[in-house]
Amino acid sequence: MRPSGSVTAVGIGPGSPEHITPAARQALESADVIIGYHAYLHFIADIAPHVRRIGSGMRQEVERVRYAIQLAQHGNRVALVSGGDAGIYGMAGLLLEMLHAQRLSEIPVHIIPGISALNAAAALLGAPLMTDFAVISLSDYLVARETILHRVEAAAQADLVLCLYNPKSSRRREVFDQVCELLRHYRAPETPVGVVRAAYRPDQQVTLTTLERLSDVPVDMHTLVIVGNRSTYVHDNRMVTPRGYAEHRNLNESRME
Ligand code: SAH
Repeated sequence: MRPSGSVTAVGIGPGSPEHITPAARQALESADVIIGYHAYLHFIADIAPHVRRIGSGMRQEVERVRYAIQLAQHGNRVALVSGGDAGIYGMAGLLLEMLHAQRLSEIPVHIIPGISALNAAAALLGAPLMTDFAVISLSDYLVARETILHRVEAAAQADLVLCLYNPKSSRRREVFDQVCELLRHYRAPETPVGVVRAAYRPDQQVTLTTLERLSDVPVDMHTLVIVGNRSTYVHDNRMVTPRGYAEHRNLNESRME
């Protein structure tokens, strides 16, 4: 192995150039090869156009990491791209797991954080994540459905705001319906729910609804769903979960205290 090879897991944010961090941009520009899911490579088409790109399909994550490791072993600086943040349902964990399994601790690894879908969706909705929240993926590709439902139920019981990643795909609709059903046992029908599709992409859609009406809103694999807790409310089209200041301070006093 030439000593210069490395793998950098790069989170490129939700999909717009303004939301790629300077550190992520720098990692892409200094790479010899950029590897990623086709759709994500499309979002960074204008960045580092001189750098060789290798795109692959969905569910090809293991193959992608294997290839990245091989290229690094041959002396290449590889940027392994994830949408959002590389460490939130992204490539960083799989990269570390595979290096560990293959006992390849000599390969330098860097992980560049990115703006995750939850940051992007929360900003578009208002401030729904001001207090404790849980993040759950509804994809039952790698996690058993019972486990997903159990985690949703535990979070619902604990009155956590919920961020639901991978809510639905064309092949997989039932988990989402089961989760909605479950949430209705623990939360009032008027609980605010934010549905953000394609955040910060040209086809972005932001919808504020309620738990009761959630099934009327189109939800797909490009969507993040944020379900409020008992205190979440909507004012002026913004979803807010109070952190608790109002219980300690007078928020309607405009003069300096
Ligand atoms: N690493 C990514 C998540 C990958 S899992 C991150 O940190 O954001 C893929 C899921 O993320 C999608 O099914 C969707 O639920 C969510 N997601 C990713 N980008 C999104 C965007 N721009 N708008 C809305 N949801 C998004």
